[in-house]
Amino acid sequence: MASDSDRSQRELSQFHACIHCGSVFRRDEFDGTAVATGIYPCTKCGHDGPLNIVIRDVDAAATGTNDPGPSGSAG
Ligand SMILES: [Zn+2]
Repeated sequence: MASDSDRSQRELSQFHACIHCGSVFRRDEFDGTAVATGIYPCTKCGHDGPLNIVIRDVDAAATGTNDPGPSGSAG
């Protein structure tokens, strides 16, 4: 007997994470201009630069997870 593999459809959306404050914004939020130029200005801190592109689940984004951030180890 062959059991049908239950595949859960997950919609992965593209998000942009600011390298300054670390805020995550949806690509849809940005205007077409930003997409064309490739520069996504942060609406939180105002950092104008290429935000890191991260792929996250739509559900996960809704909750809004706050990452602790990279902790620098004393060297
Ligand atoms: Zn920012």
